[in-house]
Amino acid sequence: MSATASDRFGRDRRELALGRLLTELQRFGVQVEEPAVEGRKGGAGPSDAGMIWLEGVPVTFPFAADYVTRSPFTLRRDGEGWALYRGRERLGKAVVPPRPRYYDLTTADGIPYWKIALLHLDSLASTVIQTCAYWATPDQCRFCGIQLSLEAERTIAVKRPGQLAEVARAAKELDGAVDVTLTTGSTRGRDRGALYVGRCARAIKEATDLPVQAQFEPPEDLGVLETVKALGVDSVGIHIETFDPEVLARVAPAKARTGVEGYFRAWERAVEVFGRGQVSTYVILGMGEDPGLTLEGCRRAIDMGVYPFVVPLRPIPGSLMGDLLPPPPDYVESMYRKVAPYLVARGLTSGAVRAGCARCNACSALGAFERSFRDAPGRRLTVLDQG
Ligand code: SF4
Repeated sequence: MSATASDRFGRDRRELALGRLLTELQRFGVQVEEPAVEGRKGGAGPSDAGMIWLEGVPVTFPFAADYVTRSPFTLRRDGEGWALYRGRERLGKAVVPPRPRYYDLTTADGIPYWKIALLHLDSLASTVIQTCAYWATPDQCRFCGIQLSLEAERTIAVKRPGQLAEVARAAKELDGAVDVTLTTGSTRGRDRGALYVGRCARAIKEATDLPVQAQFEPPEDLGVLETVKALGVDSVGIHIETFDPEVLARVAPAKARTGVEGYFRAWERAVEVFGRGQVSTYVILGMGEDPGLTLEGCRRAIDMGVYPFVVPLRPIPGSLMGDLLPPPPDYVESMYRKVAPYLVARGLTSGAVRAGCARCNACSALGAFERSFRDAPGRRLTVLDQG
């Protein structure tokens, strides 16, 4: 084996081992010896999440849920820094991001910047409308915690475009934010809140020129997507959550009314507007879904140019699924191993996404599996339709 091939083989094996480790961290969580990790509880993004770089790779993991007290993983002081341990075994160097400096600032009307947008590792994230038309109705998505942080007064209900621009400028200048992820609760309007997210994106772009991802439900009039693009949004997340229609009906009744085909229609138009790989969808594993339907949905989405951001369920304490556990690592890994080579074969990897959750990839291990397959053409034979 040539030195180059040998290096590549070693790198592939490391990425595979890392992918497995990330999968286990996202199942069991990590106990933290000292309360030094900035995390968050509730909300619409990586809720109940500790966030670190592990050997340079970003990862989020559960750290506040009860089951984390049984995790074999611990984050401990290691000289001047931190390290991750499984029992007594030191697994690798960890970097715990310091409290962002912009968190100490407030707006002229006295709102702390951290209530307007949070820094998730290097990505600034905000839920611009922190209420959802479905909350506390039979339509509320069972995995969602959007209004929990609002009820706990850790955020404000509506973030104005000017406030977001002010915070984004500070996050970029003081803390090195590299992109912005904007999401919203669904509104009753025909655009489902997409236009307001777009206006927020425009203000941020004018102030910082950072790439912005906007997340929203499929608008009734898909022409809204062109307006959102014209407002400066770089990529969009339109999240089906699961490709299994029975599970969708049980966990997200309002999304089920849009239906799987409704999402594909929205994605098709979105890919025309934003380009291949700049449209993504969450695909949550561990809600009782049929793996075959899930893989078939991912394959169809990838063929269309949509990045399926496959993640394990992270039950948010206080949500309607708060008593569940994340799914077993063997199952999650088996799905990554089928989706990742198909993404690579179609040239649709997380590294090419300009902004947002799929770009960051810290809530999934899919990116690590993509990297392991990228330079190993033989492995690409393990494609989705081989079951
Ligand atoms: S549509 Fe569902 S996931 Fe989105 S904010 Fe509303 S309840 Fe949460």
